[in-house]
Amino acid sequence: MKLTVIGFWGGYPAPGDATSSYLLEKDGFSLLIDAGSGSLSKLQQYIPVTELDAVILSHYHEDHVADIGVLQYAKLVNYYVNGADGILPIYGHVLDKEGFATLSHEYTEGKAYQPDESVDIGPFQISFLQTVHPVPCFGMRITDGEHTVVYTADSSFKEEWIPFSKGADLLITDCNFYAEQNGESAGHMTSKEGGEIAQNAKVKTLMLSHLPQYGDTKQLVEEAKEQYSGTVLLAKEGLIWQA
Ligand SMILES: [Zn+2]
Ligand SMILES: [Zn+2]
Repeated sequence: MKLTVIGFWGGYPAPGDATSSYLLEKDGFSLLIDAGSGSLSKLQQYIPVTELDAVILSHYHEDHVADIGVLQYAKLVNYYVNGADGILPIYGHVLDKEGFATLSHEYTEGKAYQPDESVDIGPFQISFLQTVHPVPCFGMRITDGEHTVVYTADSSFKEEWIPFSKGADLLITDCNFYAEQNGESAGHMTSKEGGEIAQNAKVKTLMLSHLPQYGDTKQLVEEAKEQYSGTVLLAKEGLIWQA
């Protein structure tokens, strides 16, 4: 499978970039994970909107769902210009009923995932872990049967991330804070905590994402490396990870 970073900033996009969004592809199937601010524009640099097969959302904070509305307009315009190209399923949790209701539109359909059950989407099987965040949010463990990607979405540290991430080929952590900061009250993690999870879960590669707009983000990598002996990637637009 192939993962392309579409957006990686936490909270709001830095100039010219996007907030959380990742494109996961396998055997011609394209799954978009979160659809943050600016992500629809960036996505089209990699694939046309009509080639998206499904979208899955961790939670309904704006920096993860801001472009769902314009994605729905893109589907609608495409229908008028080129004719129907099918209904795009958008998976979300139903702990926020208002948020979930926004997922259905003329050519998109909200699909509920149950946090305690895994869901099959194309070639991917996805299981969930509720994160520590001001609103209900779910991290995902995604496997194609051969390789595994774990995405913490937005979360402060909790022990359960270690077994949940066990042996993953790629772990993408919320790294909204530098090592010396405290992300707990905001519901985010530090570089150090991401490194601790990666080390204890023995993942193959750690990607730091949901990054802060201030400071020198390369420092985050150095801080994570103090905890974790594997490969550390710093998310940036267009970064491709493949297994
Ligand atoms: Zn966020
Ligand atoms: Zn959030």
